Amino acid sequence: MKPQKTVIIGAGASGLMAANVLAKAGHEVILLEKKHQCGLKLRITGKGRCNLTNACGRNEYLSHISSPEFFEYAFDNFNNTDLMDFFTQKGVELKTERGKRVFPQSDKASDVFFALLKDIEYADNVRIIKNCDVKHLIINNQKVTGVIANNEKITADNVIICTGGRTYPTTGSTGDGYRILKLVGHRITEPIPVLVGLRTQNGYPQALQNLEIKNCQINITDKDKNIITSRFGDITLDEYGVAGPVILTVSREIARQFDEGKDMFLNIDFKPKITEDKLHAEISETFKSRRTENAASIIRKWVQKPLVEDILKVCKINPKTMGYKLTERDAKSLLWYLKFRREEIIGDMGWNEAIVTQGGVSLKEIDRFTMESKKVKNLYVTGELLDLDADTGGYNLQIAFSTAVLAAQSIIKNS
Ligand SMILES: Cc1cc2nc3c(=O)[nH]c(=O)nc-3n(C[C@H](O)[C@H](O)[C@H](O)COP(=O)(O)OP(=O)(O)OC[C@H]3O[C@@H](n4cnc5c(N)ncnc54)[C@H](O)[C@@H]3O)c2cc1C
Repeated sequence: MKPQKTVIIGAGASGLMAANVLAKAGHEVILLEKKHQCGLKLRITGKGRCNLTNACGRNEYLSHISSPEFFEYAFDNFNNTDLMDFFTQKGVELKTERGKRVFPQSDKASDVFFALLKDIEYADNVRIIKNCDVKHLIINNQKVTGVIANNEKITADNVIICTGGRTYPTTGSTGDGYRILKLVGHRITEPIPVLVGLRTQNGYPQALQNLEIKNCQINITDKDKNIITSRFGDITLDEYGVAGPVILTVSREIARQFDEGKDMFLNIDFKPKITEDKLHAEISETFKSRRTENAASIIRKWVQKPLVEDILKVCKINPKTMGYKLTERDAKSLLWYLKFRREEIIGDMGWNEAIVTQGGVSLKEIDRFTMESKKVKNLYVTGELLDLDADTGGYNLQIAFSTAVLAAQSIIKNS
């Protein structure tokens, strides 16, 4: 084996993992990070708790990934169990929560980050250069031989590029990799933000910001009310629309079609467990039986207190009207709000709030058994920069880690 020099562009989840694997094998590594610190995004994942993977079985795992046929080799080579073992061996105790989401026992994403950093930070064969902005690759005869960073040339036998996507740009992921790889002939599928809240024609009052409503049925329909996708789960209200776990999942499913200009509507059923007829009858009956109570108090029967004011306003019901004076029109209006609220989707909450990027480096141009570029020899592409994304639940970090391990191992094998 001839130890080689590998330049890794980007010290995020993928770059840090690749550096660990290469360093352990005695390879010389130069890890270049644009920001003043490494792993800024990794440290805020999972609301600061880092949902590093998911403990579900292989087939279920792959069903959450956009291109399972591309990812399966990398996953089988370093799967969720391998990842959990990796961190446990580095001293990070793990726990599995609802939905088989895996977190560090400490609930600290920084523990995951420091576990990745500790064996490379002071290793003799690893140099980490921060505030180092890579602009170009150096290519000779369709083979990468180095990079240009901060206007200087750094030579390398191999380059792994893992500059991430475009979400949360303040963490350093500003889409540089798309431009760098386009310049050397790679095709980039238009990046769009996903796992993101949806903006609707009418949002909710600011006072309801982040109000969580559990167990809603969400239907996304076209203008003729044909269902595009349906999901059940929890949402949060927003001044500009709706967010929360189920909306993030839906956003990923509709993003491409919406981006291409399809008209879409968000339909929220706040009471999916009761049929329209039954709820209608229940509302009318309650108006009668609670005849001396006012509307504001009666409506509390179906929703949390903060939502009452919005219902009264949107349904044009006077809060002081007594039950016996509430009409069939009021009953129908309330029924509409609770079961059939429909708003046109006018966009999403954008790059600053999205969790991942859909789109990226075309998978057709990457060897799925090695992560090597099919266009440029000795160049490897990993992580979110690839046209590969997944649902929430720890799947996206596993993509970053598995593809990094495969690229690093391929370099080791070829040396
Ligand atoms: C708020 C938030 C929460 C998330 N929570 C989870 C979660 O709990 N579980 C999960 O599975 N996924 C989560 N994700 C997604 C996950 O963080 C990403 O998919 C993952 O970090 C991608 O890893 P990466 O290494 O490919 O890219 P990144 O982590 O984005 O790292 C890319 C690195 O490259 C650097 N870089 C960029 N351009 C250059 C350049 N020109 N020169 C040098 N360096 C450069 C950047 O500064 C950055 O450090 C979350 C994302 C966000 C935004």
